[in-house]
Amino acid sequence: MIEQWSDGIYLVNRYSRYSVGCWILYYNGECAILEFPQFDGASPVDEVSAIVEQHGVNVRYLICSHSHYDHFYPSTASAFQDRFPHSHLVLQSGFRPRARMLRDVHYFDDTAVLNIGGEPLYLVFAPKHSWTDTHVIFRGSIFTGDWALGTLRSVNAFVPANVKHASIDRLQRFPHEIGGYHIHKLFSTHANDRREGINFQHLLNETHIDRKGW
Ligand SMILES: [Zn+2]
Repeated sequence: MIEQWSDGIYLVNRYSRYSVGCWILYYNGECAILEFPQFDGASPVDEVSAIVEQHGVNVRYLICSHSHYDHFYPSTASAFQDRFPHSHLVLQSGFRPRARMLRDVHYFDDTAVLNIGGEPLYLVFAPKHSWTDTHVIFRGSIFTGDWALGTLRSVNAFVPANVKHASIDRLQRFPHEIGGYHIHKLFSTHANDRREGINFQHLLNETHIDRKGW
């Protein structure tokens, strides 16, 4: 299967019992691949390859939302590197312990600005669900990994509240810092949350609130 979610944003499929999406972010003949899921049936590497080969797309980047194993399975990442030897694997620094088996990793600390066919692709480090949370901003959309939205809480309780608030602030400032970028769509990488026409600032204001029960 392949499903278009927005201009240049395609869900290739969902993988493993955790149902993690693998995504193609495309512009002008080039693309990035988002998430390296574990899989039991069809391989995301084979499915992505079939699509990019059919359309003659150049794979420039391999990127990932956070280092939990359902999203970041090192052998899947390695297989993508082997299949697309000219691509660049770009990960937040916190991935290092889990990415030891991988070669040629480009690490960043806070922000990475990449370029797909002339269109910017931003990676923004902002931990809330995990210590490697990497938000992906492309063509007016944002992928927020496994963030719970509209609440300060998260499934993973290990990131302290002050760090979460700082991360939310960071995301709220980011569109201004890059000159007034308009984020109007939001997707989870599991492909179980799809929001269009969002008020990004308002949604993040709500996310600062520590709601009881959730
Ligand atoms: Zn997940």
